[in-house]
Amino acid sequence: MEELLKKTASEQRKALLNKEISAVELVNAEYKRIEEVDEKLGAFNSLCKEQAIETAKEVDKKIAEGEILPPLAGIPLALKDNINLKGTKTTASSKILENFVSPYDATVSVKLKENLIPILGKVNLDEFAMGSSTENSAFKLTRNPWDTNKVPGGSSGGSAASVAGYEATISLGSDTGGSIRLPASFCGIVGMKPTYGRVSRYGLIAFASSLDQIGPFGRCVEDTALLLEAISGHDSHDSTSLNMPVPAFSKALTNDIKGAKIGVIKELLAEGVAPDVKTAVENAIKKYKELGAEIIEISLPLLEYSIGVYYILATAEASSNLARFDGVKYGHRTKDAKNLLEMYTKTRAEGFGDEVKRRIMLGTYALSAGYYDAYYKKAQQLRRLIKEDFDKAFEKVDVLVSPTCPNTAFEIGSKISDPLSMYLTDIGTISANLAGIPGMSLPCGYDSDGMPIGLQILAPALQEEKLFNIAYNFEQAVKDTQKCPLI
Ligand code: GLN
Repeated sequence: MEELLKKTASEQRKALLNKEISAVELVNAEYKRIEEVDEKLGAFNSLCKEQAIETAKEVDKKIAEGEILPPLAGIPLALKDNINLKGTKTTASSKILENFVSPYDATVSVKLKENLIPILGKVNLDEFAMGSSTENSAFKLTRNPWDTNKVPGGSSGGSAASVAGYEATISLGSDTGGSIRLPASFCGIVGMKPTYGRVSRYGLIAFASSLDQIGPFGRCVEDTALLLEAISGHDSHDSTSLNMPVPAFSKALTNDIKGAKIGVIKELLAEGVAPDVKTAVENAIKKYKELGAEIIEISLPLLEYSIGVYYILATAEASSNLARFDGVKYGHRTKDAKNLLEMYTKTRAEGFGDEVKRRIMLGTYALSAGYYDAYYKKAQQLRRLIKEDFDKAFEKVDVLVSPTCPNTAFEIGSKISDPLSMYLTDIGTISANLAGIPGMSLPCGYDSDGMPIGLQILAPALQEEKLFNIAYNFEQAVKDTQKCPLI
């Protein structure tokens, strides 16, 4: 059974269909594993055993009746704790929502249920998804399964650690500036941010609405393709969701990539990249050449502004989105306020952590009269230019590659008192959110301490099929060199 937990979704599905194991047994085995390791890993904020077992029972019934099942039926999943699942606590790892129970399902949660995917529980994140290490959670630290002294990355640290630590087979996270790709890279798994609008954001607690996307984590490219297929599609509850057909992403994995044009982002392999990361990514590029791809160097000169642009736009949107947490309708309310204004200010002072407060203040400043033109408007203009840089690049190449992050997972505590150095962790990932394009991180090697390194692949909007196929070809070519985390 231990071995089965380490398998991919397709392998687990085979075991289910061959009746080597029941879906209920598989879910129970995951809970046993969680009991054994989560004290050390700290991935889960809460469990929803009853719901998960109910779903598993339904899967077993359908298997017994010989019904055809959706591809991920019975495959245990962990859900980021900023996604609503009816009847469970949805906290965004914030004190202000510590006791909030979701009165409704996010659209992705509805889709998970329709696909008979058992949801094991809700996993930890940086408070309101603001961070790169999951150290900003109000509740607990999540540790990297490869080295528990190191961070799992963030903000979807629980989503990545649970899959890498074999507590779940697949998971969902959200990515506003890299929060899926960065933890996937730090934890040695596959993580994917879809095209903006591909997946409904209805029921995702908003951080920066023009950048947020929900996306899949898995141990292999195929698992993420299957999970994206399950959660994608138009939704009338989200006006930014795209009314486009959803291709069968997992069917796109079989083509060879001879003649594919792969662009290497020059600026992301320049100075500041750790030597081991550089070598691993250069080796991946060599591998692509061997597979018949054409390699072309691409310059994205505006990339250096992406962090600055992001920290104006994301904080501006956050300051507005988080205005709703005021102690009136839901969430924490201060116990000792003498009047309404004091109720608001005390509630927010008590409920939000330092990083969230920092972002609200930055965003409010950027939007305030007199500064709007200098900051917010300029940042919007630059965002457009960054997108145009990508459009031009994609006239020449099919996809772009780079390190997901210039470094591997760092020690817990080493960056937490220096927000700027934490922000710089996202230099490779943020621009994809600004441009709205899909991006993936997949394992491409290890540093001298044995920590995983991620290769980022970016594709033009709505070309996830191409992205999955190019990633899959690399994964298959290097699969014998993949290692397992130590935990
Ligand atoms: N690390 C980035 C931030 O703190 C991105 C977070 C995310 O993608 N949710 O804003």
